[in-house]
Amino acid sequence: MQNVVILGSTGSIGRSALEVLSRFSDRFRVFGLSANTNIKGLRDQITKFRPKFAVVTEKKSYYKIKKEVSGSRVKILFGMEGMKEMVSNPEVDLVINALVGAVGLIPTWETIESGKRLALANKEALVMAGELITKKAKERGIEILPIDSEHSAIKQCLLSGKKKEVKRLILTGSGGPFLKRKNLQNVTVEQSLSHPVWKMGKKITVDSATLMNKGLEVIEAHWLFDVLEEKIEVLIHPQSVVHSMVEFVDGSTIAQLSVPDMKLPIQYALFYPERMAQDTQFLNLAKLKNLTFLKPDCKKFPCLGLCYLALELGGTAPAVLNSANEEAVNAFLQEKLKFADIPKVIKKVLNSYNPVKNPNLNDILSADEEGRVKSKEIISKLGEKL
Ligand code: MG
Repeated sequence: MQNVVILGSTGSIGRSALEVLSRFSDRFRVFGLSANTNIKGLRDQITKFRPKFAVVTEKKSYYKIKKEVSGSRVKILFGMEGMKEMVSNPEVDLVINALVGAVGLIPTWETIESGKRLALANKEALVMAGELITKKAKERGIEILPIDSEHSAIKQCLLSGKKKEVKRLILTGSGGPFLKRKNLQNVTVEQSLSHPVWKMGKKITVDSATLMNKGLEVIEAHWLFDVLEEKIEVLIHPQSVVHSMVEFVDGSTIAQLSVPDMKLPIQYALFYPERMAQDTQFLNLAKLKNLTFLKPDCKKFPCLGLCYLALELGGTAPAVLNSANEEAVNAFLQEKLKFADIPKVIKKVLNSYNPVKNPNLNDILSADEEGRVKSKEIISKLGEKL
């Protein structure tokens, strides 16, 4: 029996992970959960899964739930310190990190430091500190198991050959809600939140609409699989059935196909390298008829190119790119910034930034902060014109 912690358990990935875990309750025990403000969701999960620990990262919500569950066996912890305490608990075997954004970095670090298996859905941690994280994981003998459909696909495709035989990684993306829309000037929050295939949280849904998500995934793939950025390509594939591909030097391309449902990559990560049977999600290719692919429009979606640029700049540049994006997306969701201005903010911040080479964790955290301060200044100037 493995004891599992889920960080971000009330979010979309967290809830799917709990569904998978409950299907295999003979193998996994839910040991800890964490949430930010979704108290009702967390309370229901505590009642159903009876974890030993639950962490709440927002103060008011923390006091509220502590009062509500007093007398029960679950121990409620607070904030980043609480997450660190929970993931490093000696009883924990596996941590599923489904946090959204830069807040996932420290818990990722702590999980690896304490030598636990890590199933990682928090791509921002790898974007910010991929070099440090992968190096530390190697030192500790930990394999990072990706919970991102594209990276799960690539991990599976890579089993077909040796690393030196890989010619290219091809990441696919649905293209988001604005694939066919010509002008992105007057895009509303509501329009950007209606993703054609995946039902996800707000931040990643906006990232999918700007193609930033695909760019972040290029950086994620670069660190996870140790492949140069010029060997990582993006293809738009609206049906979202081919989740990614690997092309080998002999001209063979291996693809992974499945129904677009995050429970499949979650299950693959949890049991890797085993495959477990499930009985609901199977492809009906005859019904699908067409699988189409096209090159991404990098002019219309500048965020993708900005991610390649950040990788090229190296050091702390991807951390700054990430925090500028988080601030810009947040401002857009609050209607303080236009959709079309999201890449402008990131570009301005990145262009005026001098990255620190071979950064340590503190350099990364200060870069994150610097990116936030700079982008807030730019956002308030652009926002005046709204
Ligand atoms: Mg993905």
